[in-house]
Amino acid sequence: MARHTKIVATLGPASRDPQILETLIRTGVDVVRLNFSHGKAEDHINAAAEVRRIAAKLGRSIGILADLQGPKIRIGKFEEGKIILETGDKFILDAQCELGNRERVGLDYKALPGDVEKGNILLLDDGRVVLEVEKVIAHEIFTVVRHGGPLSNNKGINRQGGGLSAPALTAKDMDDIKTAAQIGADFLAVSFPKSASDMYMARQLMLATGGHALTIAKIERVEAVAALDEILDASDGLMVARGDLAVEVGDAAVPALQKRMIRRAREKNKLAITATQMMESMTHSPAPTRAEVSDVANAVLDGTDAVMLSGETAAGEFPVETVESMVRICEEAEKSLPVTLDRGFLDRSFTRIDQSIAMASLFAAYHLEVKAVAALTSTGSTALWMSRLNCGIPIFALTENAVAQTRMTLFREVFPLLMTNMNADRDVLRRNAEKRLLEAGVVKKGDLIVLSYGDRMGLAGGTNTMTIVRVGDK
Ligand code: PGA
Ligand code: MN
Repeated sequence: MARHTKIVATLGPASRDPQILETLIRTGVDVVRLNFSHGKAEDHINAAAEVRRIAAKLGRSIGILADLQGPKIRIGKFEEGKIILETGDKFILDAQCELGNRERVGLDYKALPGDVEKGNILLLDDGRVVLEVEKVIAHEIFTVVRHGGPLSNNKGINRQGGGLSAPALTAKDMDDIKTAAQIGADFLAVSFPKSASDMYMARQLMLATGGHALTIAKIERVEAVAALDEILDASDGLMVARGDLAVEVGDAAVPALQKRMIRRAREKNKLAITATQMMESMTHSPAPTRAEVSDVANAVLDGTDAVMLSGETAAGEFPVETVESMVRICEEAEKSLPVTLDRGFLDRSFTRIDQSIAMASLFAAYHLEVKAVAALTSTGSTALWMSRLNCGIPIFALTENAVAQTRMTLFREVFPLLMTNMNADRDVLRRNAEKRLLEAGVVKKGDLIVLSYGDRMGLAGGTNTMTIVRVGDK
């Protein structure tokens, strides 16, 4: 059985080598995340070109997700890249420091000293290092380390209880949106949005710079949880950004929020990515913990489109083993997922013809237990609707549009395939679709499949036909 849940892996020093990247993609990575909190525009442009080269070489559809830094406050860099802080040490956050050491480090948000006061608890690197503010003098925040640990370049800072972050899209984000558009990123993740208007603004900027990415709202602020529905309406999907979210809302609230967010996203025909610390221990260990295995499996059972790796593949010692483990866990979890399509339909209402065909195709596929659903689609919408209900049957999305092809890499249960000559008349179209599926090795002669298409393909929203065919029949 093919895996239905998608894997997003963050690129970094541990995975940038073309050989390793190729191995990661072969092992199961579907979407590569470029983290704009690190590196220069040029690095991301080169990385994207490398991903495309490998995808073409392997004949695979691989998506590219550009993840904006957002107004997250971060420390600067260290002379040696990394320091170790011991509990009880003194440490200074210094807005004027250029290169840090064991005594002090710089800040990207120069106004931070004006925002904090004695007694504040600052959580660095998602709470791995905890500092308590002792005093603030001009540009220096004097702290004592309450919980020590390693600290490396550009790690984030949160204040316990939230309320620190500056406005939604920074000047750097606006530049990075241009780079993302130039790269032709498939997905644009917006960090720390507080409202729907933050997401509208990101989308407008992206469109204005010639981009076509689907927008993903990273839910990592208290305000975003409260405005979830409006934010979803203004986005193509969300990321359960558990790192910052846990700091803002308290870690114990996150599991229930994750379930609610994923359910809500699917109900609204939006995408969901579950992120952060999924396989954290594999950064330094060749095997996951029992808790991590359960976490990944539970995200699959929650209905997430994708599970995401951050430091594990960006800077870990075992990037390939991590992806291997994730593949294994997803596949096993999917086997135990109950298909509740009949009940799922009860909550759906739709008025569009193409959406009705998508739902009808799914319903027929489920009851007839067909081998596959094949959707001829020009934008990917038909495949998106089909994938919002768990039907347990793979959806092969045939498209002529390379943009639609790579954006579908994130859709759960959907396998994009590029096809040509989609304007042909319906008999030719049907034969071509069957040929493409056979060629891809996903069906064989005699298999029953459900096929959806439009009389006028190449036209967004044109799907109006569903047919049930036995592959190879005249
Ligand atoms: P980040 O986002 O890795 O960019 O911080 C994810 C999260 O906060 O969980
Ligand atoms: Mn974050």
